[in-house]
Amino acid sequence: MSLNRALIFLGPPGAGKGTQAKQIAERERVPHLSTGDMLRDAVARGTALGQMAKPIMERGELVPDDIILGMVEERLSRPDSAHGFIFDGFPRTIPQAEQLDKILARRGFGKPLVIEFRVDSEKLLRRLSGRWTCSVGGETYNIYERPPKVPGVCDRDGGKLVQRSDDRPEVVNERLASYERQTKPLVDYYRRHGVLEVVDGSASIAEVNRALDEILKRAEG
Ligand SMILES: [Zn+2]
Repeated sequence: MSLNRALIFLGPPGAGKGTQAKQIAERERVPHLSTGDMLRDAVARGTALGQMAKPIMERGELVPDDIILGMVEERLSRPDSAHGFIFDGFPRTIPQAEQLDKILARRGFGKPLVIEFRVDSEKLLRRLSGRWTCSVGGETYNIYERPPKVPGVCDRDGGKLVQRSDDRPEVVNERLASYERQTKPLVDYYRRHGVLEVVDGSASIAEVNRALDEILKRAEG
């Protein structure tokens, strides 16, 4: 079985889209693409676009769309993208989505299939702000959903658990709010184009996986 299409996973941080994208990409033998990975790869390989992006990234600034989209087009022209691919967290804005539509058309792909991972914001907040990381081995726990046996201590190596600054409730709140602001219009854009499907990102990994399978089967038929 081959995917033969562009899949786009949209969802807030913590909605589980990365986990699902990885699993489906492995199963379907298609690349799992995020702009972060593409940027790092282009910089590492020293491509023309990578060289342009490098100083911008080093200054901590946002890499402009023309570089991002150039990189996307380059990535999609590689042989391993011929039978489809999964975008994880890209596009982020309507202009990027419009340009991506053009790239897909040029490369002979039809409309993308877009999956929105929807999660109740209370649940997301618990999922994200409950996350504590082992200072020794990097294992992650969730004090609500998957607590360590002894509070504050890693089960595996006894390391002290710490909360990354990104996972503090006030930071999480801001990350979620900015995702909402940015992504709502994008979700509407894809809905208008009739390519949007929604999954419940608060379900278990296996359940979300099943839901995605059904969507993919339906889309094939
Ligand atoms: Zn540990």
